[in-house]
Amino acid sequence: MTKIWPIPSIEERPFSSIKETRRVALVTTTAAWEAVKDRLDLPTVWGTEVIEATVNSWKGLLEGFEGEVIYAVGGGLAVDAAKYLAAEKNLPLVSLPTALSVDAFLTWASGYREDGCVRYIETQCPDRLIVDYDVLRAAPESIRSAGICDTLSIATGRWDWKDADAKGMNSPATKYIPYIDQMAESILQGSYDCAPSAGKGEREGLKQLLDCLALEVQMCNLIGHSRPEEGSEHYFAYSVENTMGKGLPHGDLVGPGILVMAELQGQDTAPLRKALEDCRIPLESIPREAFLQTLKTLPEYCSKHQLPHGIAHDLTEHQIDGLFPD
Ligand SMILES: [Zn+2]
Repeated sequence: MTKIWPIPSIEERPFSSIKETRRVALVTTTAAWEAVKDRLDLPTVWGTEVIEATVNSWKGLLEGFEGEVIYAVGGGLAVDAAKYLAAEKNLPLVSLPTALSVDAFLTWASGYREDGCVRYIETQCPDRLIVDYDVLRAAPESIRSAGICDTLSIATGRWDWKDADAKGMNSPATKYIPYIDQMAESILQGSYDCAPSAGKGEREGLKQLLDCLALEVQMCNLIGHSRPEEGSEHYFAYSVENTMGKGLPHGDLVGPGILVMAELQGQDTAPLRKALEDCRIPLESIPREAFLQTLKTLPEYCSKHQLPHGIAHDLTEHQIDGLFPD
């Protein structure tokens, strides 16, 4: 059997209007909870504040767990843990994002760290995604619309996908599909268009960004892989996290990854840079030394972790030195 996951049912409403009668298990993070707790009145019988994304830490949450429905309040860290618990406990899951920081609110997999890389396991798609644009507007600027990194990554991801096709390096399961590639390009265009408004925290822009993320996720669900949206820019992010530590948000790592890979691919980086800047993605969080070191070891990293083929696999010292002329 091949199963194709849906995206969550999406409701736009104030968090304060949520009425819940079932016993709630609350999965959140400290900062996110502080930001929205006054808007919520949930019959919580169990709760946890997630601090890391490892399968072991999620397993640890199973002991003592209680509740009939799981609420994930926060960003990617909270929802990935909540999706794991929902799958293990076979319970419904309601996701309340406090920032549009990633696409994880819409997906059926949880990203976890293992051996210095990010892996995904099939868990469970949230049943309901509740979007309160007042909450999103109030989120910290640098993460509020950082989910755009998961649609701008189409620029570099689809390049890798097509290039791998030309080199005969796509597996049968991830073969290049021209019309999907064009659809991905159109989602990329939609992200460029909404970036200025989303970056300001306006409903219109954030709504379009959410639509772009939902289209990207549903498209990947249908084809069964993420090649149109995930490539060398994500590999860079996964690798550089080992040097930078776990504290940095996804956008701080993927954003610079998109720019550097697009440049190496010979693409015009100006529209990407503008969209990232419009969405206030911090592009200077990674020190030059860590940046260089990551690029130089990236080909080895990619083969070690058996990542699908991209430009990151083939980087040469010469190319890298060309990026940073002294
Ligand atoms: Zn991502």
